[in-house]
Amino acid sequence: MPNWSNWSGRQTASPMRIIEPASVDEMIQAVTAATEHGLAVRGIGATHSHSRVAATDGVIVNLDAWNGLVNVDPDGRTATVRSGTRIYELGPMLADHGLAIRNQGDIDRQSIAGAISTGTHGTGASLQNLSSSVTGLRLITSDGNEITCSPTVEPDLFQVARHSLGGVGLITEVELALRSAYRLHERLWSEAPEDVFGRIGELTASTRHFEFFWIPQRDRCACKSLAETDAAPSDLAATRNERVGWSHDIISSTRNELHTEMEYSVPADRGPDCFNELREMVRRDFPDLQWPLEYRTVASDDLWISAARDRETVTISAHQDISLDDRPLFEACEAIFRSYDGRPHWGKVHYQSASELAALHPRWAQWWQVRDRHDPTNTFVTTDLASLRP
Ligand SMILES: Cc1cc2nc3c(=O)[nH]c(=O)nc-3n(C[C@H](O)[C@H](O)[C@H](O)COP(=O)(O)OP(=O)(O)OC[C@H]3O[C@@H](n4cnc5c(N)ncnc54)[C@H](O)[C@@H]3O)c2cc1C
Repeated sequence: MPNWSNWSGRQTASPMRIIEPASVDEMIQAVTAATEHGLAVRGIGATHSHSRVAATDGVIVNLDAWNGLVNVDPDGRTATVRSGTRIYELGPMLADHGLAIRNQGDIDRQSIAGAISTGTHGTGASLQNLSSSVTGLRLITSDGNEITCSPTVEPDLFQVARHSLGGVGLITEVELALRSAYRLHERLWSEAPEDVFGRIGELTASTRHFEFFWIPQRDRCACKSLAETDAAPSDLAATRNERVGWSHDIISSTRNELHTEMEYSVPADRGPDCFNELREMVRRDFPDLQWPLEYRTVASDDLWISAARDRETVTISAHQDISLDDRPLFEACEAIFRSYDGRPHWGKVHYQSASELAALHPRWAQWWQVRDRHDPTNTFVTTDLASLRP
């Protein structure tokens, strides 16, 4: 009988142990004991990953009791936070020092370590994913040592650890590059897909963030744009379609309806064609689909296994009800994503094999070599991660 499941309940596991440490010493003991007994370890945050990236039958280390600010440098615009800190806790904590993270995802429930481990991103053609903002990390490796890495200290380990899939150590602290606190003006509207794509270049370039959810049953796009503003929240009477507020209050939404999800990143210039092919397929083959497709943009980065590595990116995600079999829809979407050179989100459903991932990520083998060097006992390799070894 599984005693662990992810947020949606679609992924389950039967870990031998689930612990909730409140100190680094407790974490070191847990990792050392797991290594001695040959058990896999997974740190977990909010369990919001749809893939099996957080699942293990070994030891689950829940970081909920390990949160908060370690230090902040308002002049240098950096802060170090404990790994279990949730994104929704981070916003007010940083705002107290006049700072903010550069972007965040569609929700703010994730822990910082969980979010960076899968390359979590928001929307914005000039905005990179969250892992790109990491400037340093502390983590416990399988031998029980807590070590530091950064672009100048153990730089290869840093490359792996800031987008780690939970696979190289138990992250205890994350240092983030920040910006000054800022306000955003949100606009919501509904538009036909043909009209959105008639001016998609202007929509993505003219505001800091643009995205839409295409609602198949109405064949309409629920659009959202966020522009940076100096206006105060009180300058605008909040309406259903417009509001102003601090970035951490405005960017994320509440998503309480349980679902499962696939997301792929495709080259930005091919995003519109990819979306239109998906739309045609859904209307033809899944006319009853009740869940939307989401369309966003992400800036290129240099992370070894990032879905946005070396290319300006459009991300498109498909959602399905947890009471339904998601495979028919997701396989049909994946066939289209593959033809657009798509790379899967590491925290969402995909059916790519180890060799296919190696073809999509030229540094996949290097990521493993560095990982193996720092975890020779494979303490942080679960059965699911092992199946992706090149
Ligand atoms: C409703 C919903 C909305 C979402 N919106 C977005 C979005 O807008 N953009 C986007 O990109 N993704 C989105 N996602 C996906 C989500 O952001 C990622 O799956 C993210 O990794 C989840 O963070 P978490 O804290 O729940 O981590 P978990 O799912 O608990 O873990 C994710 C990975 O992080 C590792 N990990 C966690 N903590 C540690 C630690 N201390 N040390 C080492 N490894 C650790 C785990 O082992 C696992 O490999 C969404 C998911 C849901 C369910």
